[in-house]
Amino acid sequence: GRLVAIVGRPNVGKSTLFNRLTQTRTAIVDDMAGTTRDRQYGKVDWIGKEFSIVDTGGWVVNSEDIFESEINKQVQLAIEEADVILFVVDAMNGVTDLDDHVAEILRRSKKPVILVANKVDSNDWIYNVPEFYKLGLGDPFTVSASNGSGTGDLLDEIVKDLPEDDGEEERLESIPKFAIVGRPNAGKSSIINAFIGEDRNIVTDIAGTTRDSIYTRYNKFGFDFYLVDTAGIRKKTKVNEDIEYYSVIRSIRSIEASDVCILMIDATRGIEAQDVNIFSLIQRNKKGLVVCVNKWDLVADKSNESIRHFEQTIRQRFAPFTDFPIIFGSALTKQRIFKVLETAVNVYHNRNRIIPTSQLNTYMQEVIGAYPPPANKGKYIKIKYVTMLKESIIPTFVFFCNLPQWVKEPYRRYLENKIREKWDFTGTPVNIFMREK
Ligand code: GDP
Repeated sequence: GRLVAIVGRPNVGKSTLFNRLTQTRTAIVDDMAGTTRDRQYGKVDWIGKEFSIVDTGGWVVNSEDIFESEINKQVQLAIEEADVILFVVDAMNGVTDLDDHVAEILRRSKKPVILVANKVDSNDWIYNVPEFYKLGLGDPFTVSASNGSGTGDLLDEIVKDLPEDDGEEERLESIPKFAIVGRPNAGKSSIINAFIGEDRNIVTDIAGTTRDSIYTRYNKFGFDFYLVDTAGIRKKTKVNEDIEYYSVIRSIRSIEASDVCILMIDATRGIEAQDVNIFSLIQRNKKGLVVCVNKWDLVADKSNESIRHFEQTIRQRFAPFTDFPIIFGSALTKQRIFKVLETAVNVYHNRNRIIPTSQLNTYMQEVIGAYPPPANKGKYIKIKYVTMLKESIIPTFVFFCNLPQWVKEPYRRYLENKIREKWDFTGTPVNIFMREK
């Protein structure tokens, strides 16, 4: 996963630029708690090169009198996490003290920085641009985030600066890759330690691993797997982790690089917005999910009632995706950590499960026969045949049908639920596609 971060003081147009680059100009749909935050994270595909982009300023209160310390954290985070940094300044306003300050931090970092002079909507503002050379970050790219001019050249430049994909992920393909994610203090480091136990060699290995090689292979409890380990977990850095969005940004790389995410929830705190934000990152990346309710040793009421209540709350907050395992355990006492690993391996297998076509059709014919797709404007919708795509990263069902565009979401959900009833796809998202025969 290659990551581009947008930094800059408030009101220079960071989120407009973000929208422009990701083309997510539709209104933010807030049908699910926490999804509003997704406007800060998106994927870009430019001439076949893919990267993720994050607006690190997007979570900061957008007030004019933003504190220097706040900007420092934002920039520090970008330096630690991103491959390329877009530093946005405002061509209408010229250079401010805060711009100078940010430029100084960025100059000291070793990261590729692209200076973006925004709001050049017309030639009126082009005359301000030379002023930006004094920031010492090279040629400014003039763009207008609101009308899109210059953004193509900017994307070309971003792609040029991105590190080459070394194909590491492909080489590791057949062994499960797990990411441990969750908010600060949920117990991520603790569970990693619990997994690796006394194995000092591996611990040293992790500490010595270069930043780019984020996979460490383990052979524990009879399982062979990689743990995805990014700087965010390995070392506690300068960035103040109390601020919730930082840990969300920190999760991006781990999530993207994994097959299955083990989402750590702190049992003593319950589900909060931050957990939901990390969950939605996992969903958007279509990764497998195991929820580990950690610190269960500290919970007084361990009755079935309490467990059921906990499970219900989690599934409600993560709806509509509810078919995932939840394990109650303790990284500290190591209670059920084997179960967590075993479950993650199962989810990995579910993610790669292929149902033989004949078996699939026999069952789906029954399912469709029992409740056919509702007719639309007097036309009958007929699903003839279903097959699974073999080369897909998650289970993908393709239904061949006379009027694919008329098969609506509720019916697709019905098909998905029936598939999940019959076969074990626990913890993995699935795709349901309709195609014309
Ligand atoms: P991280 O920030 O997610 O890596 O969290 P840490 O692994 O550093 O844990 C944060 C704190 O919670 C530490 O003081 C741990 O000792 C404690 N902790 C982690 N897991 C458990 C657990 O299962 N039970 C209890 N009682 N404490 C835990």
